[in-house]
Amino acid sequence: MATASVKVAVRVRPFNSREMGKDSKCIIQMSGNTTTILNPKQPKENKSFNFDYSYWSHTTPEDINYASQVQVYKDIGEEMLLHAFEGYNVCIFAYGQTGAGKSYTMMGRQEKDQQGIIPLLCEDLFTKIHGSNNDNSMGYSVEVSYMEIYCERVRDLLNPKNKGNLRVREHPLMGPYVEDLSKLAVTSYNDIQDLMDSGNKARTVAATNMNETSSRSHAVFNIIFTQKKHDMDSENTSEKVSKISLVDLAGSERADSTGAKGTRLKEGANINKSLTTLGKVISALAEQKKKKVESFIPYRDSVLTWLLRENLGGNSRTAMVAALSPADINYDETLSTLRYADRAK
Ligand code: ADP
Repeated sequence: MATASVKVAVRVRPFNSREMGKDSKCIIQMSGNTTTILNPKQPKENKSFNFDYSYWSHTTPEDINYASQVQVYKDIGEEMLLHAFEGYNVCIFAYGQTGAGKSYTMMGRQEKDQQGIIPLLCEDLFTKIHGSNNDNSMGYSVEVSYMEIYCERVRDLLNPKNKGNLRVREHPLMGPYVEDLSKLAVTSYNDIQDLMDSGNKARTVAATNMNETSSRSHAVFNIIFTQKKHDMDSENTSEKVSKISLVDLAGSERADSTGAKGTRLKEGANINKSLTTLGKVISALAEQKKKKVESFIPYRDSVLTWLLRENLGGNSRTAMVAALSPADINYDETLSTLRYADRAK
C-alpha cells in the first residue's frame, strides 16, 4: 500500500513595510483549501491550486483561513510528532523566497504565542514523554543535532569550534550521516531551547564572517528520538528509533531553475543545488506514489537530499510549508513557490 504523499501547506504572511511603502496590492486569495494567485499584469490570468492547508495571516483572526502559530503547529507539527511516536522518520521543511516567512514558521519569534513549529514540537515532545511516565515499561531518549548546509558543505551549529566543513559518509545499515557532527542528549525542553539559541547565534556569526547571508543556506535541526519498551514477562527490550528533521530551507529566489532567465538564476541553481534537487526528489516520490511503481529517486544529487534520504522516502512522513508574500511586486517568485509546492503533492 502506497503511503500518503507529502502534506503540503501554503502560508501567506502580512505585508511588510517595504511592500506597504510601494502601495502593493494583495494578489493572493484563499478559500478553504484553495489558494488563488492573481496576475497583476493580466487580470484574467488567475491560477488556482489546492493544498492540504491554505493559511492566511494578515486580516482578523475571524477570517476562516486565518492560522496562528499554534494552529499551524497543531495541523502539521503535531501530526508529524505523532508519526514519530509510531516509529516513522519525519521531515518538515519550509520553502519560499527570502522574507516570505520560513523562519517565522519554523522557529518563530520569542514573544508570547509567536513560537514556531520547532520550539512547539520540542515542547510537546517532552510533554508527551512526561505524560507517559507512569508506564514503567517505556523508556525514552532524545538527542539533537543542528547543522547548516551552504554550497553543498556542512557546518556544525552546535559546536562552533568545529569551524571546518564536515564529511558526509554512508553507514552500511544506518545510511548517510555527517561525520563528527555533535549529537547532544537532552532531557528537557529548556535544554533544547538553549542549544537552539546558541546554534542560531553560530549561524549568524558564520554568515557574517563569510560575507554571505543565512538566507542562502539550509538549517537542519534533527531530533533522534528513541523509544524502548521492556516486556516484563519475557524480559525482552525492543527499540524504535525515529529521526525528526526540521528544515528551514535557503531562500528559493536564487535557486529556481525552472523557467530561469539570465545568469543570476543560473548561479542560484549552483549555489543551491540542494534546493533544486529536493524539488526533483519530492516530485519523483509523489509520482511514484501516484503510479505505484518504483522509480529512480535522485537523492545522491545533493547533500541535503542525501542526508534526508531516510526522512523523505520509504518509512517516513513529510510535510512542507510554502511561505508566500501577499504582494504584487513578488508575483513571479510567489507563482514559482506555488508551482514547487504543487509538484510535491
Ligand atoms: P524568511 O525566513 O522566509 O526569510 P522570515 O520568517 O524571517 O522570512 O519573515 C520575514 C518577516 O516577516 C519577519 O519579521 C517575520 O516575523 C514576519 N512574518 C513572516 N511570516 C509571518 C506571519 N505569518 N505572521 C506574522 N509575521 C510574519
